[in-house]
Amino acid sequence: MTTRACEQIGGADLHLHSVYSDGTYTPEQLAQSGKQLGFQTLALTDHDAVEGCAEMAQACQKLGLEFIPGTELTTEFDNREIHVLGYFIDPDDDELRDLLVTCQLARRERVKRIIHRLHQANVPLDPERVFQIAQCNSPGRPHIARALVNAGFAANYDDAFEKFLRKGRPGWVPKLKVGTGEAIELVHHAGGLAFLAHPGISGVDDRLPELLGLGFDGLECFHSRHSPAQTRMYLQMAVAHGLLISGGSDCHGENKGQPLLGTVRVPDRFVRDIVAVHRARAQHRHKEP
Ligand code: AMP
Ligand code: FE
Ligand code: FE
Ligand code: ZN
Repeated sequence: MTTRACEQIGGADLHLHSVYSDGTYTPEQLAQSGKQLGFQTLALTDHDAVEGCAEMAQACQKLGLEFIPGTELTTEFDNREIHVLGYFIDPDDDELRDLLVTCQLARRERVKRIIHRLHQANVPLDPERVFQIAQCNSPGRPHIARALVNAGFAANYDDAFEKFLRKGRPGWVPKLKVGTGEAIELVHHAGGLAFLAHPGISGVDDRLPELLGLGFDGLECFHSRHSPAQTRMYLQMAVAHGLLISGGSDCHGENKGQPLLGTVRVPDRFVRDIVAVHRARAQHRHKEP
């Protein structure tokens, strides 16, 4: 991994994926890279997984970085896939654990079903190739895409999605999704704050007020795939709804060429607000009988 060294310029990247889901960097590599890029705060948000948080917390502490443990839950609202970011979640919370284990088992079954469907479409991908790449509890299509490229069935990562893995293609199998409202409740049960991830990608602008009313604490306004106009709109929306503001690159490492870490930098004041609300809630919970 190559990253450009620079001065301490602070800011945060609160949306990162590691090898514990479909990223290609270890938590240590993310922390080191984030340090080199001058970040003050990082959050790990693996899909339906929290396994990398302990390692990342340790790596960040060694490097003098603030760390926020997180996850990105796959949820469903009105037949649409909605990603819910949970920050400051307790990885040992029993109810959250149950959900994560259920999602992870379903993800593994889904990988097998996708491979089976590919076989039926005369793409004899060896499942071992996929599980060698996906050495985590939360495998996904990116792992299959990489295996398809390695085995010569696709020219590159994007080609694998285009030919085989996206909706409507031979390998398409939907994922298990919990309801968005239920996911928000689970994040709260685990002591966390729930943010609506990348609304600009999810294509939910028409239902945004309704979605935000489900109990979200914040909105991911800054994202590597949000245009400046979208970012402005979501910032206005967050302010109008009294929501916290977050953001991040959604870096998956080197899956798609250049890593995205460093392309989005959330101003520190927004992070301070998130931390303050988290602390106030934690104190409140502590005082409750
Ligand atoms: P999964 O969770 O298995 O459905 O995989 C979703 C992940 O695949 C996303 O988080 C992206 O990292 C990646 N992805 C989804 N669609 C595409 C696409 N059309 N091209 C490239 N990567 C994609
Ligand atoms: Fe992903
Ligand atoms: Fe996402
Ligand atoms: Zn993500």
